[in-house]
Amino acid sequence: MFLTRGIYDIDELAHYNLHIHTNFSGCAKPEMSFENIVSAAKQAGLEMIALCDHIYKPEDLKEFNENCKILRKKRDELDSDIKILIGGEFSCYGTDKYTLKGLDFETEYRLYAQNHFHVKGWEQPDVITPENYKELTKAMLRNLLKDKAADTIAHPLNGKYLTKSTGWSNEAVGSCWTDNEIGDILTDAYNNECAFELNTGAVLADAPLARRMYNIGKEIGAVFTLGTDAHTLESVDPKRILDEVKRVLL
Ligand SMILES: [Zn+2]
Ligand SMILES: [Zn+2]
Repeated sequence: MFLTRGIYDIDELAHYNLHIHTNFSGCAKPEMSFENIVSAAKQAGLEMIALCDHIYKPEDLKEFNENCKILRKKRDELDSDIKILIGGEFSCYGTDKYTLKGLDFETEYRLYAQNHFHVKGWEQPDVITPENYKELTKAMLRNLLKDKAADTIAHPLNGKYLTKSTGWSNEAVGSCWTDNEIGDILTDAYNNECAFELNTGAVLADAPLARRMYNIGKEIGAVFTLGTDAHTLESVDPKRILDEVKRVLL
């Protein structure tokens, strides 16, 4: 587990932004160079950041690894107080299907997205309903967690990636989760040394789900990380959006 204890003070969590994309991710702005990100992090007073570019299928790992090598070299040559992790936003794209399954791949931080259901090739339920997406999410996460394959789950349980294809609200899938189910999956994650991300965009997209996850997690001692999913330089600093996040969670 990356953070070994639960931190529930949002201001303290915001010293670490553990979800930043560099311009190796096609969806990030060209300005997201290693140098620019580090200087934005320095300006924001961050203590630790994680660079997590998208990586989907195992066949993309070669290129991904080359990019990580470049980033690691830049990091190692840098004299900086900020701890910089070179990781990835890996993909759990089906039941028992995830990027690093069965592979011996070295990385410093395994952030796993499970709910990028808008991505081609991602497993879908047989019948498209919010309840079925929730059940599929449970099955996918159960296997990923059992294998201790992830350090953190990115934007967990959130249904915002389904809104475009289905016309559902951001809260349609989130509202299917009962408090008991949220408690069970957070416990499962904790027992398998995996954190849940308080992803600032996801928190604001489905506030009721985020609030329940945070409160139930606090009770069971779950470990949370904070990440802005930065694709632009201005979103490297979580403080810009922290008041809104706190209004949802506290
Ligand atoms: Zn993501
Ligand atoms: Zn991301």
